[in-house]
Amino acid sequence: SFFFGGEVMIDFDGRVILITGASRGIGAAAALRFAESGARGVVINYHRNQEAAETVARAVERSGAGALVVKADISDRADSKMLVGKTIEHFGRLDVLVANAGVWPPDERMITELDEDQWNETMRINVNGIYYVCREAAAVFIGQRSGNIVTVSSTAGQRGEAGHSDYAASKGAVISFTKSLASELGKFNIRVNCVAPGWVDTDMAAPALKVTEAELKRITSMIPVGRVASADDVAGPIIFLASELSRHITGEILNVNGGSVLCG
Ligand code: NAP
Repeated sequence: SFFFGGEVMIDFDGRVILITGASRGIGAAAALRFAESGARGVVINYHRNQEAAETVARAVERSGAGALVVKADISDRADSKMLVGKTIEHFGRLDVLVANAGVWPPDERMITELDEDQWNETMRINVNGIYYVCREAAAVFIGQRSGNIVTVSSTAGQRGEAGHSDYAASKGAVISFTKSLASELGKFNIRVNCVAPGWVDTDMAAPALKVTEAELKRITSMIPVGRVASADDVAGPIIFLASELSRHITGEILNVNGGSVLCG
């Protein structure tokens, strides 16, 4: 446990954490760190990769937390309801939602080439998905008069991303959605914050980062700290926002990008 002024600040003892998209990348790293920080239960949501989700669950259990693996497509209303329902059924409560699952269509497409199907698909998963899951979790949180939501946006959601306007728009929506919920839900003792990562070394970014050494150098030269983030680099700030250390922070967009917005 981490003590601050005689009070325990980072200790998820007895808490139940639901993480969407926890089979891989940032979500998987956060699942492990919550488990290490004393969480009672971690719900590992995935969409297609059952084996990867089961591997995360075993690691969570090795850290002493309970793990529940739930296949659910967050862009589906019934699936999102089932996901939160199963969490309550299994662990009896929910304390933290990390609304992390998302997609980044890797091909660069100028607006004139960006077809409606891709636009709708990105919005469906990144925007509708966060709406469905947050709505279900908020109902639980309001009922118990406590709760914490951490959403995941992106640098793209703040400064845009050429060739990826669908993704950037969806992540901009995550930011204004986060701020809206923070304003609405504060009175119920519910905080809502957001992390906005730059490049993170996960499967999502792999197509963009599997490039020549010179090209990778060009990418890292745009990041003041000189390197791409690891999934753990983002999991830390997620844990902070979910913990008591950040108890007076809500509606905040926490950049986790090694300073890259300063160079964009
Ligand atoms: P990732 O490695 O591609 O993992 C994505 C996760 O989301 C997987 O667990 C995947 O499940 C899940 N998922 C995808 N669609 C889903 C759906 N419809 N329903 C439920 N789960 C779904 O991605 P990541 O890099 O960790 O990204 C996590 C979040 O960070 C995303 O919101 C992303 O936009 C954001 N982000 C990432 C970067 C980056 O550079 N990587 C930068 C900024 C922001 P399966 O394994 O079952 O497919």
